[in-house]
Amino acid sequence: MALRFYNTLTQRLEEFRPLDGHTVRMYTCGPTVYHYVHIGNFRTFSFQDVLRRVLRMRGWKLFHVMNITDVDDKIIRNAVAEGKSLREYTAPYTEAFLEDAAKLRLERPEKLVFATDHIPDMVEAIRRLAERQHTYESEGSVYFRISSFPEYGKLSHTNFSGNLAGARVDVDEYEKADARDFVLWKARKPGEPYWDTPLGPGRPGWHIECSVMAMKYLGETIDIHTGGVDLIFPHHENEIAQSECITGKPFARFWLHAEHLMVEGQKMSKSLGNFYTLRDILARGWAPEAIRYLLISAPYRKQLNFTFDGLKAAASAIERLRNFQTRLETERFDPGIDEDQEQRAAKALADYHEGLDDDLNTADALGAVFEFIRETNIAMDQGRFRAGNVASAKKLLGDFDLVFDVLRPTLAEGALSDEEVEALLKERTEAKKARDFARADQIRAMLLEKGIVVEDTRDGVRWKRR
Ligand code: AMP
Ligand code: ZN
Repeated sequence: MALRFYNTLTQRLEEFRPLDGHTVRMYTCGPTVYHYVHIGNFRTFSFQDVLRRVLRMRGWKLFHVMNITDVDDKIIRNAVAEGKSLREYTAPYTEAFLEDAAKLRLERPEKLVFATDHIPDMVEAIRRLAERQHTYESEGSVYFRISSFPEYGKLSHTNFSGNLAGARVDVDEYEKADARDFVLWKARKPGEPYWDTPLGPGRPGWHIECSVMAMKYLGETIDIHTGGVDLIFPHHENEIAQSECITGKPFARFWLHAEHLMVEGQKMSKSLGNFYTLRDILARGWAPEAIRYLLISAPYRKQLNFTFDGLKAAASAIERLRNFQTRLETERFDPGIDEDQEQRAAKALADYHEGLDDDLNTADALGAVFEFIRETNIAMDQGRFRAGNVASAKKLLGDFDLVFDVLRPTLAEGALSDEEVEALLKERTEAKKARDFARADQIRAMLLEKGIVVEDTRDGVRWKRR
C-alpha cells in the first residue's frame, strides 16, 4: 500500500503525495532558543527526521524549512536580565541545538530560518491582514480578530461559535484552550529590544513568524506542516488563520503532530523542570544512538514514557542488531541458497516497509526486523542459512538503517576508526604468522584498551566495539 499519514486537519489517514508530484514542501516549527533543547523536544524533531527519510525512500525530493524562534517573551526576559542583545543571547543555544541534533543523526532541513531575519516580511503580512479587515490596534499593539475567520478552530476541531468575541491575549503562551484574539505585533515595552517599523516600534508575536517564513520559502499552499501536539492550539490554528486570511488559499495540506515524551505521567517540559537535555544523558555515558532509537522506536502518535530502563532496552536492541550485522559480515556460510530463508527475508522486507507506510509505524517496522533476526539467527545456528542468503538479509538491514540509522557506533573522542582497527588487526595477523606472539598480544591489549574486543574464530578474526 502507498504511504499514508494521519492528518490532524481531516482526522483521517490519507495517502500522501506532494502537490507538484516530485518535491515535498514541508515546514517544521523549530526550537525556541532560550535554553538547551530537551529530549522531549527532540522526540518531535526525531519524528521529523524519520518522516524526512521515509519520504525520500519513497522517491520524493525534499524542501524542508525549519525556523529558529529567536525572539519571544522568555528570550527577551533572559537577554535583558543578562544585559545581552537577542542574538548574543540566543546564538550559543542555536549552536547547541544544531550540535545535539547532529549527534542524534537528525538530517539538517534544507533551510534553517531565523525569525529576527524576517521582521520586514512580518510587517508586510500584518499590513495585508489589516487591509482585509482582520486586525485592530490597541495601545500600539496589533491583534488578529478571530471572529473575522469563520473557520477558526478547524485544526483543533473546536467549535468556537458564539465564543469568538473573545478577550485579547498578549503572551506567547496561552494558559488554556479558549479562543482569544491574538497579538500580531507587540508594542515596545520600556527596556526591551524593539524594531522601528511602519507599525510603530515593537516586535512580532510568535504565530506570525511561522506563517510568514513558511509561505516565503515554500509557497502559499505547502504539503506538510509538523510540530508537537501542544502546538495544534493555538499556534497552528493561528498560523492557519493568518495565512489563509492573507492568501485565501489552504495553508497546509497535511498537518502531522508528534505526541509527547512523558515523565511519570507528565509532559517533559522546561516549566515543570522534569527534563533531561541530550547533554545530561550523554554525560551519564549513554550513546546518542540509544537515545535516537528510544525516541523513534515508538510510533510518533503515541505518548512515550521516558525511563532509563527504556534507554537500556534501546541500547541492547542496538546491540542485537549490530551483532547480527557482524554475523552476516564475518561468518562463513555454506554455499547455495535456502528458499525458505529467501521468503522470510522478502516477507520481513515487505512488512518493514508496510509498517513505515502505515503512518510511520516504527514499532511495526521494527517488529518485522527483529522477528527476522530471531529466525535467521536460528537458521544460521542450524546451518540452514547459506551464502546465497546473505544479500537479502543485508538488504533488509540496509533499508532498516536508512531510516533508523543506529548501526554505526558513535566514536568517542580519541577512539579508533574502523580503518585503524582493520590495519592493526592485519598487523597482528602478520605478527602471528611470523610467530611474533608478543607483538600480537600487545596489539590485542592495545585494542582492548580502546574498547575493541577481538575474537579469533574458525572463520577468522572478528572484532566489535564494547
Ligand atoms: P519549543 O522550543 O517549546 O517551541 O518546542 C519545540 C518543539 O518540541 C515543538 O514542536 C513542541 O511541540 C515540541 N515539544 C515540546 N515538549 C515536548 C515533549 N515533552 N515531547 C515531544 N515534543 C515536545
Ligand atoms: Zn510555528
